Amino acid sequence: MSEVRLRGVSKAFGLLQAVRDVSLDIDRGELMAVLGPSGCGKTTLLRTIAGFERPDAGCVVVSGEVVAGPGRFLPPERRRIGMVFQDYALFPHLTVAGNVAFGLANRPRGEREALTRRTLELVGLQHKTERHPHELSGGERQRVALARALAPEPALVLLDEPFSSLDATLRAGLRREVELILRDAEATALLVTHDQEEALSLADRLAVMREGRIVQVGAPEEVYVRPASRWAAQFVGEVNILAGVARGTGVETELGIFDLHAPASGTVHVAVRPEQLELRADREANAEVIDREFRGHDVLYRLRHEAGRVVLVQLPSLELYEVGERVFVRPAPAAVTTLVD
Ligand code: ATP
Repeated sequence: MSEVRLRGVSKAFGLLQAVRDVSLDIDRGELMAVLGPSGCGKTTLLRTIAGFERPDAGCVVVSGEVVAGPGRFLPPERRRIGMVFQDYALFPHLTVAGNVAFGLANRPRGEREALTRRTLELVGLQHKTERHPHELSGGERQRVALARALAPEPALVLLDEPFSSLDATLRAGLRREVELILRDAEATALLVTHDQEEALSLADRLAVMREGRIVQVGAPEEVYVRPASRWAAQFVGEVNILAGVARGTGVETELGIFDLHAPASGTVHVAVRPEQLELRADREANAEVIDREFRGHDVLYRLRHEAGRVVLVQLPSLELYEVGERVFVRPAPAAVTTLVD
């Protein structure tokens, strides 16, 4: 059963339609990420679910209860929703325990203490309960924010760009940590981010958002491997969009023949990921390396193909080609592509 149900949710600010007719289901215990470029309406969607914005149309259902809809609007504190903000928004004058207990003010003292203790153990901060936020590292502060959101055992946890104020190394480690904490808590969570890697690695399912609309929902691998449109293909990861002629389960392009996920015929465009191509240093070269971006575990090459187009190819960093080198680019074995508009 879905823990959260959005149906036809829209929200405008004056003439600007920030969220357009969004329908989305989040299952109990599921970690869903909304991924989209800056300004596409992610935060507005989150704030509408939380109750900080009133939708112009549609309804929001949490745990079977309509929290926003025609003639009904519950304030944030009555929605059983926990929030983790971009800047954590911790109370500086309260201790770690005080911050976590804050949302439990209406509970009996014994229960409040037990929930605070249990949640701080869950995030691994049981030894720092009397510290103040300024005495904590960025990662610890974020765990306090997460504990504060989780302590009242909400039906849904909303996280708005929770890693954006952390440096890259800390981000990756903390991402996994936050995921494990959410899974331990069996929380249903919706995370908003513009970081593809974050969304792909963390979420059970992604909702890709563009100009206020959800344009694709699916498991990360599904969205990556079978993007619903050219835009989605280009937004989630790097991609080559190639023109080709489809004949059944194969498509012929200027880079060679690829398999297709679903049979097609006629003139089409396909999305070929950079790792679906391979290179050979060859006398019959058909491309030249014009740029090489070394990324540690892999290298992204930009090639000028003889047909004139720029082609992106990703290879393990063990396989190095020089800028200016002539190479032969072709489909990697078993590269399966998908049609895009
Ligand atoms: P980012 O990733 O940059 O945070 P976002 O996808 O979260 O962006 P929103 O913050 O939801 O996008 O904004 C969507 C659009 O609505 C933007 O054009 C923004 O300027 C506008 N907007 C957001 N809040 C308001 C407001 N209170 N009043 C007027 N316009 C707003």
